[in-house]
Amino acid sequence: MIIDTHCHLISDKYGDLDVLREESLALGVGHCVTQGTSTYDWEPQLALAARMPDFVSSSLAVHPSEVHAVSDEQLSYMMELCRKHPQAAIGETGLDYFWEAPEGWSEDAYRARQRDFLEQHFNLAQELGLNISLHTRDKVGLASFEDAFAIARNFPKVRPVFHCFIGDGAQAERIFSELDGLISFTGILTFNKSEHVQAVATWCPADRFMVETDSPFLSPAPHRGKVNIPGRTKFVVDKIAELRGVSPEEIAACTTANACRFFRLPSHLTH
Ligand SMILES: [Zn+2]
Repeated sequence: MIIDTHCHLISDKYGDLDVLREESLALGVGHCVTQGTSTYDWEPQLALAARMPDFVSSSLAVHPSEVHAVSDEQLSYMMELCRKHPQAAIGETGLDYFWEAPEGWSEDAYRARQRDFLEQHFNLAQELGLNISLHTRDKVGLASFEDAFAIARNFPKVRPVFHCFIGDGAQAERIFSELDGLISFTGILTFNKSEHVQAVATWCPADRFMVETDSPFLSPAPHRGKVNIPGRTKFVVDKIAELRGVSPEEIAACTTANACRFFRLPSHLTH
């Protein structure tokens, strides 16, 4: 059984989520962690996790690209929801320096609010004994990675996963040794010109990586460009197995075990 550790099931790209569930189960993906991003998806996501507990776990947060749209009061409200309803993690949070600041915001003020929100998410994760799903993205250089890394360092009890990892081996090593963190791979691994991230997937220690789709985005080959579903985590697993010269079952087993530990999922999900 495969676990998709990062997707966004509350999306206008999806119709019937019962159909999506059946399609995903047919591909061997038995569970997924859906990640909150902003006011519109928090409550629908909690309702979905309550309706399909065997298939969906919830993780709530404000995505870094949404910090201008979410008030301080709304952030506090999200934190209250996390205290009242079971969460697998806090996420998707992080720092995004790729997109320009929205209208009416200076670059400095926008990035400062992202860092402030990220720190508050780490505080919440620490309070609730949860881990954190991190997004970092830069146009050039590694500023968002370095800034998120520096904040994560202040919270040694919270383990981060750097989701949709596309960095190099040196970054991965630092995440493992200095943060006790993990990385997770998306369908980008299956694209042409992703040799450097394929290299990391080839040597990465078996207890340090997970798999994900980031659905509805990033559909892997051979379905590139289509609306993605959690079931296609299977293609990420298959690619890693090919790169490492082992069976897909072996990659499914280790990534599922890692996900169960990281997200504290009930152990019956692995059977
Ligand atoms: Zn995401």
